[in-house]
Amino acid sequence: MSSSLATVAYIGATILFILSLGGLSNQTTALRGNLYGMVGMTLAVLATVFGPQVTSAGLPWIIGAMVIGGSIGLYAARTVQMTQMPELVALMHSMVGLAAMLVGFSTFIDPAASASFAGPAKTIHELEIYIGVFIGAVTFAGSVIAFGKLSGRVTGSPVLLPGRHWLNLMGLLVVIYFGSVFMQAHDVQAGMLPVIVMTIVALLFGVHMVMAIGGADMPVVVSMLNSYSGWAAAATGFMLSNDLLIVVGALVGSSGAILSYIMCNAMNRSFISVIAGGFGTTSTPKPAAGAVQPAGEVTPVTALETAELLREAKSVIIVPGYGMAVAQAQHTVFEITKFLREKGVNVRFGIHPVAGRMPGHMNVLLAEAKVPYDIVFEMDELNDDFPDTDVSMVIGANDIVNPSAQDDPSSPIAGMPVLEVWKAKTSIVMKRSMASGYAGVDNPLFYKENNRMLFGDAKKMLDEVLTALKA
Ligand code: NDP
Repeated sequence: MSSSLATVAYIGATILFILSLGGLSNQTTALRGNLYGMVGMTLAVLATVFGPQVTSAGLPWIIGAMVIGGSIGLYAARTVQMTQMPELVALMHSMVGLAAMLVGFSTFIDPAASASFAGPAKTIHELEIYIGVFIGAVTFAGSVIAFGKLSGRVTGSPVLLPGRHWLNLMGLLVVIYFGSVFMQAHDVQAGMLPVIVMTIVALLFGVHMVMAIGGADMPVVVSMLNSYSGWAAAATGFMLSNDLLIVVGALVGSSGAILSYIMCNAMNRSFISVIAGGFGTTSTPKPAAGAVQPAGEVTPVTALETAELLREAKSVIIVPGYGMAVAQAQHTVFEITKFLREKGVNVRFGIHPVAGRMPGHMNVLLAEAKVPYDIVFEMDELNDDFPDTDVSMVIGANDIVNPSAQDDPSSPIAGMPVLEVWKAKTSIVMKRSMASGYAGVDNPLFYKENNRMLFGDAKKMLDEVLTALKA
């Protein structure tokens, strides 16, 4: 393929990626957005593999790597459970970071690459390598720890080293110092030590940064690492002088940064304080006197009683959470919704921005079950309606409906906006036990007088509720 044809293909792919992002902003156009993305990526891969930069001797290696990588990807995509998606995404981000690191090292030791630059261009090229490897190493290490936290292999609580901010600052100074040594090195031998030291510091920084984040703040880290992976890809693009990679990396990097900002707003957190870490620590002060303490008795109900409450209701708000994803209960939820709507009940869904384990988790599940978009609302659109609601039904959610976020300033999730389900005439919480949610915080909702607990697997209990409704 000639270089001008490859450039045209790259421009086409760039446009398709922008259209894809635009499509993904709305549920009704999301399918089209995905399609644009797939076509764009196919075009980009073909233009690169058959482009002017790949020699015929290198082609079999690239095709071999694509077959192996593609097979692993296909297998992972086919076998991954919906509840494991966030872990898979974290793992994918780590791959982008690893790729940026490896490309940085290989570009550095490649004599042909360094020979093609001279003067200021050489300085810029070396800076690109140093920064690219740094971003890649932070993204790689941080994403691996995020994967560990999301999959329960690494503790979800923040791990805080004494003087952690000073440690980070020292690490940054070391990186800057070795950066200047690297820039002054005249050959690969002299430059190798500084770049290796910087990589080790960057890896430790990535581990340290994500280990220090806990409680309910992981969503921001997930979207932040998404953004980092974009910048890592852009850095790779600079190192390889590949315009498409620079553009796509910048798109991912900036959209991830915007998402992190939105998530921080939704959780009433400052971005800097989340990165600095430390929410949900054991060092948080003990609850103040008068603060809400979980206490008292809970009132369990049966599926039959739940069906009764639903049948008598005129308005119902369903709040799904991570447990609905675990139980794969979304299809039964839709069946119940359909049944109630046919009986004239006003059924709506309230979606918290951090419900589940990844941004948009609940929307994906509800769309899969074909729940109409026009009855799915965001938290802010619905929170004022709970006092006029007969039944609020919480399906496998916990942190996102925890009143202590509002009432208890010493709670690790204090200040996080929550869905005020307890303001409905009756709230019903479906979960298997009294266990806490992701943030590990007790939930005073369970003990409220107007709250009922329907214990059991959400899918099993909802099947029973549906049978009782239809009886
Ligand atoms: P939570 O993790 O707070 O609660 C989920 C509840 O579901 C648990 O208490 C559990 O209780 C219950 N559950 C689990 N399995 C089942 C089942 N089979 N049937 C019925 N219930 C079940 O989830 P939320 O959605 O309320 O909140 C999300 C949390 O995850 C927040 O803290 C958020 O910060 C965090 N997070 C979100 C991310 C995102 O991007 N959305 C990313 C990373 C973290 P029991 O064991 O008793 O059944």
